[in-house]
Amino acid sequence: MKILAISDEVVPQLYNSNIETRYADVDLVLSCGDLPPYYLEFIVTVLNVPLYYVKGNHDHEPRVYTESKDLLLPDISKALPCPGGCVNVDGRVVEHKGLLIAGLEGSMRYKPGPYQYTQNEMMHKVARLGTKLFLRRILKGRWVDILITHAAPFEIHDGKDHCHTGFRAFLGFMRRYKPQYLIHGHSHVYDRRQPRTTRYGETLVVNAHPYRIIEIDDPGSAGRR
Ligand SMILES: [Zn+2]
Repeated sequence: MKILAISDEVVPQLYNSNIETRYADVDLVLSCGDLPPYYLEFIVTVLNVPLYYVKGNHDHEPRVYTESKDLLLPDISKALPCPGGCVNVDGRVVEHKGLLIAGLEGSMRYKPGPYQYTQNEMMHKVARLGTKLFLRRILKGRWVDILITHAAPFEIHDGKDHCHTGFRAFLGFMRRYKPQYLIHGHSHVYDRRQPRTTRYGETLVVNAHPYRIIEIDDPGSAGRR
């Protein structure tokens, strides 16, 4: 199964009509956050395959509320829509042709605003997601195949500053649930010597910025764990 993973930056290599032929064999798209809805909608429309995503710290709230008398009402004129035709997988697990995909949005909390979490808050998100994976374990005999996140795991592809520090909870997630891949964004790569793929136990950690093609065995095929 061929996966197009994207994150953080709109790139002309993808934002043009040639992707229809160049990436015609892509089975699904995974977006790791900080990308505008128009970009996701363009890709999902042209490639016509499922697109699963999580939000990053620079994604805005989908709705702006205004005060009307005593009520807070959604201000439709100011609403930044969620990308149409795309599926938000934050805190959820979805299945695509037998492939189990889960997601965890956001970065380390560094200022007031949405889609940011403390180490502790992310630990709770991981625990909540774990309860949802439990059912899959019973039904499928494995927890999850791919975890998509915005931030990197702690000390893997992450930064030294607070905003770009990775989450420790992702390390525990990989040790316990052993996904084949953890695909993240948030850590921009401008130096080709910077590692973009790192093995952690049984998981390959991949930085998707700004885009990567990932080949994964079809679920149930020989050679899978
Ligand atoms: Zn980010």
